[in-house]
Amino acid sequence: MARREPTVHNRALMIACPHCESVSGALCYDKRGRRLPDGRVHQRRTAAYNRRTTEAKTR
Ligand SMILES: [Zn+2]
Repeated sequence: MARREPTVHNRALMIACPHCESVSGALCYDKRGRRLPDGRVHQRRTAAYNRRTTEAKTR
């Protein structure tokens, strides 16, 4: 499992972030309303995306 993914092509951006409530396609924002650097997203967003992907494959 890759520890670092290409920032611009972060697949987690395809879903909304459950942490900062960024909509799908938008980058994550921190508590100050600033975008996270390097196109990073919150771990919860990645986790949610992976979970969704896993569920999709399971069906
Ligand atoms: Zn976020």
